[in-house]
Amino acid sequence: RVSTRSRVTRVTQAVADLQKAVPFLPTADHLAKWSNTSWRNFTALQQPEYPDQEELEKACAEIASYPPLVFAGECRTLQERLAQAATGEAFILQGGDCAEAFSQFNANRIRDLFRLILQMSVVMMFGGGVPIVKLGRLAGQFAKPRSANMEEKDGVSLPSYRGDIINGPEFTAEARTPAPWRLVKAYNQSAATLNLLRGFSTGGYAGLDRVTKWNLDFMANSEEGKAYTDLARRVDEAIAFMQACGLDMNSSVMKETEFYVSHECLLMGYEEALTREDSTSGLWYGCSGHMLWCGERTRQLDNAHVEYLRGIGNPIGVKVSDKMDPGQLVALIATLNPENTPGRLAVIVRMGATKLREKLPVLIEAVAAAGQVVAWVCDPVHGNTEEVKGYKTRRFENVKAEVEAFFDVHEQCNSVPGGIHLEMTGDNVTECIGGGACVSELDLSSRYHTHCDPRLNAEQALEMAFYVASRLRQ
Ligand code: PEP
Ligand code: MN
Repeated sequence: RVSTRSRVTRVTQAVADLQKAVPFLPTADHLAKWSNTSWRNFTALQQPEYPDQEELEKACAEIASYPPLVFAGECRTLQERLAQAATGEAFILQGGDCAEAFSQFNANRIRDLFRLILQMSVVMMFGGGVPIVKLGRLAGQFAKPRSANMEEKDGVSLPSYRGDIINGPEFTAEARTPAPWRLVKAYNQSAATLNLLRGFSTGGYAGLDRVTKWNLDFMANSEEGKAYTDLARRVDEAIAFMQACGLDMNSSVMKETEFYVSHECLLMGYEEALTREDSTSGLWYGCSGHMLWCGERTRQLDNAHVEYLRGIGNPIGVKVSDKMDPGQLVALIATLNPENTPGRLAVIVRMGATKLREKLPVLIEAVAAAGQVVAWVCDPVHGNTEEVKGYKTRRFENVKAEVEAFFDVHEQCNSVPGGIHLEMTGDNVTECIGGGACVSELDLSSRYHTHCDPRLNAEQALEMAFYVASRLRQ
């Protein structure tokens, strides 16, 4: 068996010849036919039908006049971090709601998710010995792709719910009609969310000297809560030791943390309105979030989403199910990252454990043979959704089995696992079954709050972090 360390060394050497951690610099050729509006010449799937186009244009023009939500320099730093994840020198933790909701927008929920991500990072960093790149599904994760355009209930047919940025979840004609004012509201919620996150990450809350204080109240007595408290004490001891050695407790490494936000690049009018030219590099950035990803349903080579994403300077992701074939993936990577810039692209795999063991090795080998550098990220939730007693749910054991398969396959292929992508919340919900939290099928109805897909609750997410840490350590 090949150790992680030697696999990391091998891959690190393989990319040493490539320019490492340089900003994505597309060639003139690549950009010749690209502009912030060129996506309009292609088919854009999964877009809502607005009854009033003029109103939509007004809302987009308003957002286009507002400040960017994120900045090009931040996106470039994130790209450097993702380049490290591609070689095994860092690991990505990407997580948050399936869909953010207007009705669940408050400071406590943002704080609790942020705190959970900090806890999971400490567990994975301490256990795995690598820096964790913290990436929220947050401050812009509103638009949802749907498998059906319409939803039927009691003989009534209405447009499907597509996320609060588009329409409302209530089953009424009024709520389900796409409304442009929602774009502006989503922008404002994202701005306020980012403002709070920036405060938390640089204002002392995220300082490593507070590691023992991050446990969520309701977890104090759970297995995961206790395991976290134990680990946090050990971290505290290590810090005290480092302090005795002369570590400056006021340095930014100890007092601050980097935190980035990401969402699915889906609603094209919103994304275009926030696409801005960076004055330092002359490149265009999608300023709605640091990292944008292309969903499984909108990643066709000749469609609008791929056209848009190939031209922006941000680090980007692409979701990949078992339906992807190796040739197609290599072509897609070449389109999205023609210069093969490390950190530019994350391939987010979501297949379910069984299919992953069969299909992922072939994809990894094809990408390696093409000499392409990507960060491989495991999304163990979207291939494991099922319906139980009328609730859309996921079983923790299936989610964990997919993470296990992901690490096994990378080991077997002499490749590097770069990160994990989870739908999770800091709230004490009962949306996924199992785990140490012991949510049963009967518990689903008790605290089922998601507007879209079921999320791991804080205990389940922390349990997953301990498992990932054990695999990173090997
Ligand atoms: C999602 O991330 O919520 C999602 C819709 O994923 P996918 O595109 O992989 O189905
Ligand atoms: Mn989802």
